[in-house]
Amino acid sequence: MRHRWLGFANDDASVSRFSTPDGEKHVRHDALILAVGGASWPQLGSDGAALTHLIARGVDVAPFVPSNCGFDVNWSAHFRERFAGEPLKSVAIAVNDADGGRVGECLITEHGIEGSLIYALSAAISDKIALSGETGAEIWLDLAPQLSAERVRDEVLHPRGARSMSSHLQSRLHLAGVKAGLLRECLTKDEFADPETLAARIKALPVRVVRPRPIAEVISSACGVAFEALDARSMLVNLPGVFCAGEMLDWEAPTGGYLLTACFASGLVAGEGALTWLNERGIALRDD
Ligand SMILES: Cc1cc2nc3c(=O)[nH]c(=O)nc-3n(C[C@H](O)[C@H](O)[C@H](O)COP(=O)(O)OP(=O)(O)OC[C@H]3O[C@@H](n4cnc5c(N)ncnc54)[C@H](O)[C@@H]3O)c2cc1C
Repeated sequence: MRHRWLGFANDDASVSRFSTPDGEKHVRHDALILAVGGASWPQLGSDGAALTHLIARGVDVAPFVPSNCGFDVNWSAHFRERFAGEPLKSVAIAVNDADGGRVGECLITEHGIEGSLIYALSAAISDKIALSGETGAEIWLDLAPQLSAERVRDEVLHPRGARSMSSHLQSRLHLAGVKAGLLRECLTKDEFADPETLAARIKALPVRVVRPRPIAEVISSACGVAFEALDARSMLVNLPGVFCAGEMLDWEAPTGGYLLTACFASGLVAGEGALTWLNERGIALRDD
């Protein structure tokens, strides 16, 4: 505890340097298992800095990027003030094709959009943004996922008499609050006024997401030590006797237990790998 790994003290990487409350310590090891995490929530200790010591030894490491993250959207000041913090209950979001999409819940935030459905789609959204460049990428929100496009169209085109379009949408489709606000925010006046277009957009509302939220505030990070840099027991090919596990490796998974499960599983592989490595060299484990 309270030892920060500072990399290696010698050429053959068999001595580790640690900063400790009692000053710097050097520790010789027969095997070393690194599980130093990714780069999100650095206040919990994992800030990605440890990987610089591996890069310095020629290990292939891809820079960490946000994963399981929210995204920035350039909301208007009016929309942000009115709806930041509002949940979007039961929407579907499509990333690569306006049709279909995944049903779930998310949240409008001051900066953009977050929540479980967005986290689940964040890898695909990030990939799309990376391809689209600085202008960001469009995703499509289905504001009435429980209704078919035909049913939505029928309801929107139903005669509305003297009622405003907003109260018509509320009474026929229960579209009010943040969902109605999103329609106003993301459609032009003409689109909102044209019933055919409006009906189509209720089922596929384009929202432009600009960039992922900063890595420090997201749930996990993707990238890290490349699998090509490891052998089957999770030992670094460049640094025999040094094993890696957990989020520091280049994989990503949705939140909901998958990240932790993958970390534990890779920890098991690295642990067993280190034991085999020691056994092969006739080195017995010490109690300390
Ligand atoms: C807010 C939040 C919510 C999450 N929710 C979920 C969830 O619901 N389900 C899920 O599956 N996953 C979730 N995760 C992700 C999950 O917690 C991580 O993927 C997992 O903990 C990573 O495990 P790890 O052991 O690889 O790294 P970490 O848990 O980050 O542990 C790495 C440790 O190494 C230490 N360390 C770093 N550098 C050094 C160094 N140089 N010297 C010494 N020690 C060092 C750090 O202090 C830290 O204690 C969540 C993460 C966050 C931040």
